[in-house]
Amino acid sequence: MHDLVIVGGGPAGTTCARRAALNGLDVLLIEKEVHPRQKLCGGALTQRVTELIDFSIEHAVQTDFCGGRIYSQSGEFLEGSLKDYTGYLVDRKDFDLLLLQEARKAGVQVEEGVEVVAVEQTKTGIRVLTVGDSYKAHLLVGADGVNGVVARLTGLRDRWTSESVALCIATDIPMEQDEIVRTMSMTDSEFLGIDLHFGIIDIGYGWCFPKKNKLNVGIGCRMDKAAGLRDHWNSFLKRVEKLKDVSLKVPRRSAFRVPFGGRTRRHVARRTMLVGDAAGFVSPVTGEGIYYAMLSGLLAADVASEAAEMKMPYHLMTYEKRLKESILSELNIAAGLSEVLYRSRKNVELVFSIARSDPKMQQHILDFVGGVRSYSQIRRDMVRRMLSRHPLKTLRLRL
Ligand SMILES: Cc1cc2nc3c(=O)[nH]c(=O)nc-3n(C[C@H](O)[C@H](O)[C@H](O)COP(=O)(O)OP(=O)(O)OC[C@H]3O[C@@H](n4cnc5c(N)ncnc54)[C@H](O)[C@@H]3O)c2cc1C
Repeated sequence: MHDLVIVGGGPAGTTCARRAALNGLDVLLIEKEVHPRQKLCGGALTQRVTELIDFSIEHAVQTDFCGGRIYSQSGEFLEGSLKDYTGYLVDRKDFDLLLLQEARKAGVQVEEGVEVVAVEQTKTGIRVLTVGDSYKAHLLVGADGVNGVVARLTGLRDRWTSESVALCIATDIPMEQDEIVRTMSMTDSEFLGIDLHFGIIDIGYGWCFPKKNKLNVGIGCRMDKAAGLRDHWNSFLKRVEKLKDVSLKVPRRSAFRVPFGGRTRRHVARRTMLVGDAAGFVSPVTGEGIYYAMLSGLLAADVASEAAEMKMPYHLMTYEKRLKESILSELNIAAGLSEVLYRSRKNVELVFSIARSDPKMQQHILDFVGGVRSYSQIRRDMVRRMLSRHPLKTLRLRL
């Protein structure tokens, strides 16, 4: 009987497993793929991600960035660097492998290439069934991502609705390093920046992230708006070619879902906690999920460790409470801002014009995208500034 079984070896699962093992628990992690495995993702780590990590990620880092450009539909852009800031761009296959290796080093038992198909409650714990095997534990963590099974098997969620997830298309496009530097450097420094293109698709955006000898390009939007996504993808590629004056040799693209505004109502069931995408912990403005995956993994690991000592279903109350204090309060604010920004493409243009005329608002937006300060601080500063400097536009935005 293990103290803790974790289903899923992405950032949420491996971070949870490592912390729980370091806390002294007997941890088993089950992953259906074998690392290094491909995972469609932009691989942008905001600075706050690195603040959750206490080992070097140098080997997994492709490039770093210190700011970026936010494009409007017309192709104009706002550019800004963040002070004392370093974000990183990684390939998820390298980053996730590194996280798994660190979990193993901490004493986590890992079963790879094994898919969990069922979960059963027993009198004394929980049993996890795979094809041909079963594992028992006192507690279970569902870290199996947006398409995972644990949330549904434990009654925490039905299928995602089309308003609660986004569909993304992305690929890595090979590019010479000097071309990356020419097209993606900040105007005022030799540092690289990331590009976000708003207003080119309803309830979504496009991105270009500079990596080593390749450009990660993607576009995504909420699933109920995704009917013309393939056409938007083709137009976006042409737009990037024109704006950057490059010719892109685009390899096969892939598509994948990401939670976008949808969350499970509860994140805890009897003996089970959900973390990361499985729980829907992704920003409904930027699609940033790695930070929330790792943070929720740490929270769940600590609650599991405390629950093991107290021998009671302590986690039921504590995990939900800690989520509310940290992740859920932030995501609720992001949901409010997402509602304003994505209400219409006109709103996107209005926000852009405000930021263009007001450097303070521009800074607040950059801070939000970079995850520099808490969302509650940023929202408070934005609302104050909007009411004092842009009262009519505040009304038009229905902020
Ligand atoms: C196109 C795209 C671009 C993105 N770009 C960014 C970005 O730049 N920055 C950012 O912060 N976020 C980004 N995200 C979001 C980010 O990828 C996710 O939020 C993050 O991967 C969540 O981590 P996770 O560990 O919860 O889930 P995952 O990374 O999805 O890991 C879940 C794991 O569970 C395993 N699994 C699933 N089912 C089972 C099963 N039944 N049994 C055993 N194992 C199972 C899977 O194989 C997988 O390894 C992007 C998402 C997409 C789709």
